[in-house]
Amino acid sequence: TPVVGVLALQGDVREHLAALTGAGVRAVSVRRPEELASVDGLVIPGGESTAISKLAVAFGLLGPLRERVRDGLPVYGSCAGMIMLADKILDPRSGQETVGGIDMIVRRNAFGRQNESFEAAVEVAGVPGGPVHGVFIRAPWVESIGAAAEPVAEYGGHTVAVRQKSLLATAFHPELTGDHRVHALFADMVRAAR
Ligand code: GLN
Repeated sequence: TPVVGVLALQGDVREHLAALTGAGVRAVSVRRPEELASVDGLVIPGGESTAISKLAVAFGLLGPLRERVRDGLPVYGSCAGMIMLADKILDPRSGQETVGGIDMIVRRNAFGRQNESFEAAVEVAGVPGGPVHGVFIRAPWVESIGAAAEPVAEYGGHTVAVRQKSLLATAFHPELTGDHRVHALFADMVRAAR
């Protein structure tokens, strides 16, 4: 059984641990470089990307994260995690770093005030069985995407999920829905990479 870590600096860590367990992998929290070194895959949770970025620097994890991503570690990021996987943020807070890995530019809090939080059915390529229930909370969207990355879900004319090799990112939060199909897709990516 593959071991999948959840980056436990800030955000909805518990929900991802539960969703991963539901998807049939062994889920563990990751807070230290030694813990990162021992996982077969990693989830970067939803939360606040500026906080996750600052804490990753403070915990000495940013360099090791970038290194493992460069070496092909499968990583799934939801919402703030999607922002952390973007090579570029359109409107970064000063000093806000990303891990990067996905050839895309994201816009934070993209859906605007009227739509700060909403839910919508979203069809995700690679997820069988019909649309997932997309929970969007101050969600980013993908402003532009490079040739290396592939859009796998759209909502309202914007790309809201992306895949690039062993990296997966969604602007929405499947971990809040009890539907583990997106985590199951990621678990398959982790198994394929092993
Ligand atoms: N708006 C948050 C950010 O920019 C993301 C929100 C979320 O993860 N639900 O990091």
